[in-house]
Amino acid sequence: MDAPVELAARVKEIKASPTLAVDAKAKALKAEGADVLNFSVGEPDFDTPAHVREAGKEAIDQGFTRYTPVPGILPLRQAVCDRMVADHGWHYQPDQIQVSCGGKHGLYNMAQALFGPGDEVLVPAPYWVSYPPIIQLAGATPVIVPLDEKSDFDLDPAVLARYATAKTRGIILNSPSNPTGSVLSARALAAIGELALERGWVVISDDIYDTIVYGGGKLPHILDVDPRLAQRTLILNGVSKSFAMTGWRIGYTAGPKHIIAAMNKIQSQATSNPSSVAQKAALAALTGPQDFPRAMRDAFLPRLDFIIGALTAIPGVSCVRPRGAFYVFPNVSAYFGKKSSSGKVINDSVSLADYLLEEALLATVPGAAFGADQFIRFSFATSMEILEAGMQRLAKALAGLS
Ligand code: PMP
Ligand code: GLU
Repeated sequence: MDAPVELAARVKEIKASPTLAVDAKAKALKAEGADVLNFSVGEPDFDTPAHVREAGKEAIDQGFTRYTPVPGILPLRQAVCDRMVADHGWHYQPDQIQVSCGGKHGLYNMAQALFGPGDEVLVPAPYWVSYPPIIQLAGATPVIVPLDEKSDFDLDPAVLARYATAKTRGIILNSPSNPTGSVLSARALAAIGELALERGWVVISDDIYDTIVYGGGKLPHILDVDPRLAQRTLILNGVSKSFAMTGWRIGYTAGPKHIIAAMNKIQSQATSNPSSVAQKAALAALTGPQDFPRAMRDAFLPRLDFIIGALTAIPGVSCVRPRGAFYVFPNVSAYFGKKSSSGKVINDSVSLADYLLEEALLATVPGAAFGADQFIRFSFATSMEILEAGMQRLAKALAGLS
């Protein structure tokens, strides 16, 4: 028998993460010497703060290199609780916190603990690329709820009601959003909260970008809608974005004790615990000075102003101004149906992103990866120099289509 070993059905149902795939392709081209400008993967272009790096080194030197408790070390879970009170006024106990190997893994644990065959989970689109596959890997069905660019990608309660069925078990919210940077209005959150309470849904609130917000004022949040929602809400957050710690892989979830306990059961059988060293570093991040996320946000703001100005100056391109995160998601569909001088036809966001990479050496992520084919995503967590060069190349490449 020399036929290749058959893979499980579930793996055939999903694709590899498109954000990570484009990033890998851009880096490979760069390694071959191509002058690629990479706007694909979303990660801060800052180093992890020095005191956090020191805490990691100290953990190694002090031999803090063994298994930790499955849900994460107690001081870190306590630090998460302290941040939740200080930043939002939300009260959690350490047994309501799970630390996971990145925020992505927290979502994976949640889906495994909560969803299964026959369950539907509402996912507003544009969505972050990993939500649908994480739901599918649990055997459940993602149900995509479209958001409209014209209303700044807010969720329309009437549209939401159309997609809710008797099989709906929950909804995933991401505000500020990856990829649009939009935030959900208090009105939308109130409607979601009402349905969740009425129908017994779980609400997953992915708050990973909540420290990167432009403009003043507190963002509306599902937990502020009705105190009863705390019983059915899971808050996902982490240090990847807020402390430029994407490679350390530390995320955390706060929620009802029985759900966290179920997630811990899954984690105990899957990864045991997140890295001991990275946990110590995350502890230093959450308990140390909190000015780093603000400084990063302040550095992103002029880049946002620049990229929005440059994009909207291109004929046919529209772009909603993000309220948070570090992505812009311009509508580029005016260029669909056009052709390049080399004869390449642009049909959709994938062919446009391919064209931009091949002909202009610009790495972007096609909107199709986020369930919104009229758009492409740029991360502006990169230098002003690269942004300026990138926008020039974009304008030229789009002008070259006819
Ligand atoms: N949620 C969203 C919306 C994200 O963009 C990311 C970034 N990768 C994550 C969760 C997870 O982040 P990480 O696993 O790096 O902590
Ligand atoms: N969240 C980032 C992005 O959207 C990192 C890559 C990923 O995990 O998807 O680009």
